[in-house]
Amino acid sequence: MTSASHLFYQTRLRRPLVDRAEGIYLYDRNGKKVIDGSSGAMVANIGHGNRHVIEAMKAQLERVSFAYRLHFENEPAEELARRAAGYMPDGMDKVFFVSGGSEAVESCLKLARQYAVAVGQGSRWKVISRFPSYHGSTLGALAVTGYAALTDPFTPMMQEMPKIVAPTAYLDRDNFSMEERGIRYADKLEEKIIEEGPESVLAFIMEPIGGASTGALVAPDSYYPRIRDICDRHSILLIHDEVMSGAGRTGKFLGGDHWNCQPDLIALSKGFGAGYSPLGAMIAPSRLVQPVLDAGGFMHGYTYAGNPLACAAGLAVLDEIERLGLVENAAVMGELLKAELVKLSERFPFIGDVRGKGLLLAAEFVVDRQTMKPLPKELNAFQRVVDIAYDKGLIIYSRRTRGGIEGDHFLVCPPMIITPEEIGEVVSILDDTLLQLAGELGLPVNT
Ligand code: PMP
Repeated sequence: MTSASHLFYQTRLRRPLVDRAEGIYLYDRNGKKVIDGSSGAMVANIGHGNRHVIEAMKAQLERVSFAYRLHFENEPAEELARRAAGYMPDGMDKVFFVSGGSEAVESCLKLARQYAVAVGQGSRWKVISRFPSYHGSTLGALAVTGYAALTDPFTPMMQEMPKIVAPTAYLDRDNFSMEERGIRYADKLEEKIIEEGPESVLAFIMEPIGGASTGALVAPDSYYPRIRDICDRHSILLIHDEVMSGAGRTGKFLGGDHWNCQPDLIALSKGFGAGYSPLGAMIAPSRLVQPVLDAGGFMHGYTYAGNPLACAAGLAVLDEIERLGLVENAAVMGELLKAELVKLSERFPFIGDVRGKGLLLAAEFVVDRQTMKPLPKELNAFQRVVDIAYDKGLIIYSRRTRGGIEGDHFLVCPPMIITPEEIGEVVSILDDTLLQLAGELGLPVNT
């Protein structure tokens, strides 16, 4: 595409024109075939070109694609809410549709606040979150996002929210066990609540398994129940942002399911519409929704919420997740891919950590594993690894952020339909990519 284009996104960088997609592959207009090793932005979970979803959407499009929710109810929305609730923890049976992750997070923040007001706890408004984290691009979601480059330009325009450090226990070089570290990281929430004044704190929001900002960060097991306990003791709502970790990507339907978590609100998107339609949801229990509705209604909503076409897509995506056993496949293929990434880390000692669950996996670059110091910024390793991989036929996703200090990581999150043979292709391209990266940047390789 030429620079005369009228289109713009975040940066000056231009990307190849996409032509078509099938399964785990994307093809550009020059005929180049690449593996979608990040499912876009961890979205295309059931792969591209799924016939069942296409046919379901076509049929819905022929019938009615849009009917405004304040004028009509529609069957796909009703049915999708019922099916989605079936995947949620006990009591989480109310579904509020939106069109994306930021909208899902905004909805959680606003429902939490309206609930507090409705039950006479209007002093509660602060939402504590973690640093680093990413919860979306709208001003409310941005206020709880811990990512300085994204938030800095907007701080005068939004209400800054208190942050605690994300549980980056893998970086710690102390004498505590992982379980002890998990407790210590969780206890930072309690310290922050006390510092802020418990009666002013409304909620805590976290990604149960981190996304792009932390590179698939998983806390020690002890972290999760301790967070729940702290929230309960201070009557604070626990919001799980499952935008990236939900819809089966981590080998369970929700990331929090690995620890049987019982959050109070859940934000879902990405894999829920799987790229076939912009779709997301907030899931809440009746005990939070009813007081808000009784007090006059939820003062929040989006034009496209619960439109029949998006919900028909979501239903067909769930059909395919179930028919093809994709949650189980994500668990099994994830184990395989993670084991291969660990092998790569033995060959390439500048990989300091491999982490994640299911097919939400990441590898982090370091100078050495003893100090876990990040690579120098000037090497631009996070960008180079993506470019080299693309040339070799693989899309991966990378960032330079971690626990408050900068560091490079890349995510490998292929569609959940991936087969063992295709995992082999991914790994072989990654091996070639890392070898070239090591050569270019002067990094060590074990032979
Ligand atoms: N929360 C998380 C954890 C995310 O990963 C994202 C998107 N990367 C969002 C929220 C925002 O979603 P969207 O871009 O669809 O608004």
